[in-house]
Formats: sequence, structure tokens, C-alpha cells
Amino acid sequence: MVIAIDGPGGVGKSTVSRRVAALMSLPHLDTGATYRAATLRALEAGVPLDDEDAVVEALRDATIEIVGGRVLLDGRDVTAAIRAPEVTAAVSTVSAHPRVRERIVALQRRWVADHGGSAVVEGRDIGTVVFPDADVKVFLDARPEVRAARRAGDAEAAGRPPEEIVGELVARDRADSTREVSPLQPAPDAVIVDTSDLGIDAVVDRIMQLVARAQDRARS
Ligand code: C5P
Repeated sequence: MVIAIDGPGGVGKSTVSRRVAALMSLPHLDTGATYRAATLRALEAGVPLDDEDAVVEALRDATIEIVGGRVLLDGRDVTAAIRAPEVTAAVSTVSAHPRVRERIVALQRRWVADHGGSAVVEGRDIGTVVFPDADVKVFLDARPEVRAARRAGDAEAAGRPPEEIVGELVARDRADSTREVSPLQPAPDAVIVDTSDLGIDAVVDRIMQLVARAQDRARS
């Protein structure tokens, strides 16, 4: 079973996805981490990020692996490094390149296949592009001010001015939603859950209901 959880930043995707994965005893893939690793590689190579050819070339020999929740770039543990503000500021530019997405989407599909074909996969285009046949598709959303407040509370935001965090979130949302390839948008058959006024438990319960329904459908 593939459970696709999409949505913009600050909606609680990661927390909720991890909880659902634990409840279902399924592996969890954070696809944002794969784009962040690609971005770190491009930054380290010093290539102009808006030059698709140069970014693709920088990624040519790169290996990106997700092992036990750690992110490895060419065998090096970059789990913390990919959360740096420079990576966050650059990732939407890198992830907008169609040929970068092609490469990274292939990696994501392979990861799920290598893990037995069942997983909780979180991202922006999982229900629309990566796994359009996912058994459960959820699109989490929340009011912008709620998302900004949640992001400001994230560990990676610690010590940074809240205005900076909010500005970054808004800019990234705009870039992710307006790009030509695989823009952030709900799949037509996704269930949209507004998490603005819901706690984590309530969101997880809602998703588990959808999972139970999908399991019933599969049995009948
Ligand atoms: O989820 P996270 O904030 O770590 O994602 C980082 C960036 O990676 C997003 O802003 C987006 O540009 C890109 N991304 C994407 N498609 C996905 C997951 C992430 O384009 N499925």
C-alpha cells in the first residue's frame, strides 16, 4: 500500500507521515530530503542554480541515499546539512528543473520498490506524479499564518528571526505552486485536510480512517 501525503511547508506533513508510518509498520520516505540533497550537491559544486544543464551535470555522478532515516550524499551523512538555510533558500530553484525531477522521481520510486512497494511517502507531487495510483492520497493544508508559526517553531528555524522564516515559506510556496513541471497542487482524487485547527492526533486519526477505507475497498 502506498500512502501519499502532499502539501506545502508547515502543515505538519513530516510529523503526521512518520506517525502514520509507525502505526502501519511501513517505511517512510521524505521526498523533500531528496531534493534538498540534490540542492546541497549543486551548491557544493558551485554551479549556477538556474542553469538546468549545469545542475544536471553536477548531479551526474552523485549518489543520494535514504538509509534508516539518514540522508547520504556520496556516502556522507548530510541529514543535518540539508536543513541549512542556504539549502532551504535554493531548493525550489533546483527542484523546478524538469530533468532534475526526472532523476529524483526515479530515485523515489526505486526506494519504494526496494522497500517492498509499500510506504508512506510525503512531498508535493506524490499523489499527482510520483505515485498517481497511490491507495490513499491526502493533501494537507493550513492557513498561511498557522503554517508560518509552525515553521518558526521547527528546530531548523531556531535562533532565526520569524520574519525571515515567514518570508522564506511564502517565497517557496509561490515557487513550488507556480513551476511548470509538477506544481504543488492536490490530486483530483486527494482528500484535502485543513490542519489549521487540528492537533496531530486528529490528523493522524483522519488519515487512518482513509487507510481503513482503502483496505476495505481492496478486500471487497
Ligand atoms: O518538504 P521540504 O520542505 O523539505 O521540501 C523542500 C523542497 O523540495 C520544496 O520546497 C520543493 O521545492 C521540493 N519538493 C518538491 N517535490 C516534492 C518534495 C519536495 O518539489 N515531492
